[in-house]
Amino acid sequence: MYITQMTHFLDETGNIPKQMPKEARELGSFMALVVDATTKEKSAGRINTGIRCFQEKCDGIISSELHNSIYDIHWKCSKCNSEGTIGSWQGTKWDNTDEYY
Ligand SMILES: [Zn+2]
Repeated sequence: MYITQMTHFLDETGNIPKQMPKEARELGSFMALVVDATTKEKSAGRINTGIRCFQEKCDGIISSELHNSIYDIHWKCSKCNSEGTIGSWQGTKWDNTDEYY
């Protein structure tokens, strides 16, 4: 499966650059929210993040799962077919999983 690397959306200070194209910035912000919500959750398995789907016409809610074995976050919309995998989120400012280190 295609993995979106969180670091591709960040500048050297670990922030999403303001000069980034709008679409990329929106996707980066969306992924940051998903990483934040997912890594706050200590329980294993799929969780409901409460985050709205980033697709404009979709009002689905994103569920996500942290795969401990590979350290990637898989997210999925409850309504449309949007889904994805986020990699290299470790150590970003949305990473709440200090116990993994
Ligand atoms: Zn959706």
